[in-house]
Amino acid sequence: MKPVIALVGRPNVGKSTLFNRLTQTRDAIVADFAGLTRDRHYGNGRLGKHEFIVIDTGGFEPDAGSGIFKEMAKQTRQAVAEADVVIFVVDAREGLSAQDHDIANELRRLGKPCVLVANKAEGMHDGTKLVDFYELGFGEVHGISAAHGQGIRDLVELALEPL
Ligand code: GDP
Ligand code: MG
Repeated sequence: MKPVIALVGRPNVGKSTLFNRLTQTRDAIVADFAGLTRDRHYGNGRLGKHEFIVIDTGGFEPDAGSGIFKEMAKQTRQAVAEADVVIFVVDAREGLSAQDHDIANELRRLGKPCVLVANKAEGMHDGTKLVDFYELGFGEVHGISAAHGQGIRDLVELALEPL
């Protein structure tokens, strides 16, 4: 069984862009793997020697009251449950937000290994914009650019190495 990586983060941080980058496709495919629910976006990832499955998720809004947001939060929890490791995506340009804290707390509760990545970090060389994210309590913050394909290989190594 290939390792499963779930992409989690608030809306608009670049999860789907990262999904497309990892799966090298534009269309999220529905995979046919035993034990995986079919109503989320699964893709086959391959990078160097690594083969894995990626799950894209919608927004993650644990405190949203009802309707679509509640459903999205539920979907995300299920994706995390299926995953071996979570890539927690934040936005290097927007900086730390209250929603990031909510998601961090939820991820802590779910107890899966997490790698924290700050996306949209192309052109940010000094890392000063990333220091705030250490507050989330997930250790090192890895700057990447999903859109420009920067830091992706290292990220995959980092996520899969401990498994
Ligand atoms: P999602 O809601 O988390 O799935 O985010 P999307 O993948 O839909 O991306 C949200 C927006 O961020 C889109 O306009 C993307 O083009 C943009 N975006 C994604 N990755 C990057 C990146 O690495 N750098 C920059 N500058 N923009 C990005
Ligand atoms: Mg998306």
